[in-house]
Amino acid sequence: MNTKWMARGNCSVQPPETFFPSDGVGVLKAQHICSSCPVQERCLEYALRNRIEHGVWGGHSERSRRRILRERTAAARREAAPDLNASNDADQLV
Ligand code: SF4
Repeated sequence: MNTKWMARGNCSVQPPETFFPSDGVGVLKAQHICSSCPVQERCLEYALRNRIEHGVWGGHSERSRRRILRERTAAARREAAPDLNASNDADQLV
């Protein structure tokens, strides 16, 4: 996997520990740096695809990335079995 984009990230000139914070203030600080990063989307996709569990990547915390993965999994399931989901929706109306 090509990771040359990492050298263009805003974090390339920051201490690595900035992106592995131990509290919410640290997460906000890292997210602020990520917010103007030219490779933010690529970074997020890299972390999601590689199931990176720790740190702030692409401006997203560990919790936020878990939520994105859950949403994508649910969307993929809905797409794979639309009839089943329609049935479930009908069941919920009863
Ligand atoms: S989005 Fe954040 S963690 Fe990712 S490369 Fe940019 S500054 Fe680094």
